[in-house]
Amino acid sequence: MKRVLILDLDNTIYPVNSISNHLFGQLFKLIDEQLDPEDSDMVNKAKDELTRRPYQHVADEFGFSAELKAKGMELLSNIEFTEVMHAFDEYADLRSIDIDKYLVTTGFTKLQLSKVKMLGIEADFKGIYIVDPEKSTQTKKDVFAMIMAENSYAVEEVLVIGDDPKSEIKAAIDLGIDTFLFDPTDKHTDVTVTHRGKDYKGVGRIVKG
Ligand SMILES: [Mg+2]
Repeated sequence: MKRVLILDLDNTIYPVNSISNHLFGQLFKLIDEQLDPEDSDMVNKAKDELTRRPYQHVADEFGFSAELKAKGMELLSNIEFTEVMHAFDEYADLRSIDIDKYLVTTGFTKLQLSKVKMLGIEADFKGIYIVDPEKSTQTKKDVFAMIMAENSYAVEEVLVIGDDPKSEIKAAIDLGIDTFLFDPTDKHTDVTVTHRGKDYKGVGRIVKG
């Protein structure tokens, strides 16, 4: 029996690729200007990672120059998404589960909050937390622990739902929380999780235990 769902946002509630061109256009242009076109494999891989993971992490992993890092950060920390956004159809199955829900997402505060607004999902959550590495050293793991402590949720009463084994899934595993990996394209079949699915149809049953 679960009393609370903790959800990731990007690629868990809506597909990032639906807003990528619009959102990442300026950033990709900057990257193309700064990185060596000879390294096109690396450039493409970095761009792909950027649609799914925080800029700071990708910039470090791919060795972006200090200049590119600073310019990209400046660009992204001021972006807000202002177009209509649509959640995955599958999200309806989570929305209809009538227990406490929290949204915990990593990224730039302004941008993440603008996405929540454009998706029209604020009312679905008891709490919304943006983990913004620019503003704080607080991690998803810290936020999960805080949510449990503040609301007296026992570890076994929590289910963390997300698409990223290195982010919310790892944070949950570290805390002993059950995980549900949303993996519609079988990208992470090698990862050990409590539950997995290509949609959210099974979550209602997991919640009832
Ligand atoms: Mg995600």
